[in-house]
Amino acid sequence: RAKSQGKQRYSLFNNELLNNNLRRYKLENHLKRAIEKNELHLVYQPKVAFADSKVDCAEVLLRWQHTKLGAISPVEFIPIAEQSHLIVDIGNWVLESVCKQIVEWKQHYQLDRVSVNVSPQQLAHMDFISSLEHILRRTGCQPAWLEIEQTEGWMMENPDDNIAVFKRLKALGVRLSLDDFGVAYSSLSQIARLPLDVLKIDKSFVEYCEVGSREHMIVRTVIQLGRNLKLQTVAEGVETEAQRQILDAEGCDMYQGYLFSKPVDGKTFVTMLEKKPQADIPHCSKEHQPS
Ligand code: C2E
Ligand code: MG
Ligand code: MG
Ligand code: MG
Repeated sequence: RAKSQGKQRYSLFNNELLNNNLRRYKLENHLKRAIEKNELHLVYQPKVAFADSKVDCAEVLLRWQHTKLGAISPVEFIPIAEQSHLIVDIGNWVLESVCKQIVEWKQHYQLDRVSVNVSPQQLAHMDFISSLEHILRRTGCQPAWLEIEQTEGWMMENPDDNIAVFKRLKALGVRLSLDDFGVAYSSLSQIARLPLDVLKIDKSFVEYCEVGSREHMIVRTVIQLGRNLKLQTVAEGVETEAQRQILDAEGCDMYQGYLFSKPVDGKTFVTMLEKKPQADIPHCSKEHQPS
């Protein structure tokens, strides 16, 4: 009896594994044509500054809407893209699209910058820096308008090479942010060597951030670390007013999360930005000036 049960369990496990592999294989194949089939698009999650409650920054997040399979989460397809190296083309598509978008928005809105997630496989690619330079030049996007988010885990894999890449990016003038900070056991000595601008506090700390909790103390410590290293601190995954208040009281610089807004399409995002004064828009100023 026990034996047949064991067998059943074994074959169930086998089926699951097979289904997982099939789905993976299927997604990888579909992902190859996702760009040309126009299935990828970008959404933007606003970042709110604690100092004045204004929005002038966002994080861009990739979405895949497959005609038959529906919406597929980046949590599922980004790892597939990374393992199949499709991430290089997809990542370049993201960079090019967001740079174009930033340049357009900069004409009309008080947008400061947009942060974009890049995969370790993209950064490790020889051509990454020159592709980025190309994209910036082609789109007219200034490097300072772009912030690159990289997870802390990435850095630990190959610290010397990765620090070198970060230094070259910094020299180019883009801002650098360490994403999901606090969950990947990176050593503080490696962090000290990185030319960073931003620390992003991982949402797992924010989630359990209640007054006096251990997570609260960790959040306090990370914000202090950021302050001492002259880095900006950004909290992600803020869902409640209580969490927001703790982060504010601790001196965090910015937050993003469902409390203020989910990631939204570009049209919705710009409604949260302040418009530029008319006089600053060169091609409009003539028409609107009293004669
Ligand atoms: P991430 O960079 O840490 O992005 C934050 C994730 O938290 C996003 O999930 C966002 O939608 C979600 N989020 C925002 N506010 C809240 C909140 O209040 N509560 C909760 N529970 N979640 C919140 P998303 O969009 O599913 O992206 C997941 C991950 O996929 C990202 O994590 C990032 O690592 C990766 N990713 C997304 N877009 C790209 C991309 O263009 N390139 C690369 N390489 N990775 C990407
Ligand atoms: Mg991110
Ligand atoms: Mg994050
Ligand atoms: Mg995260």
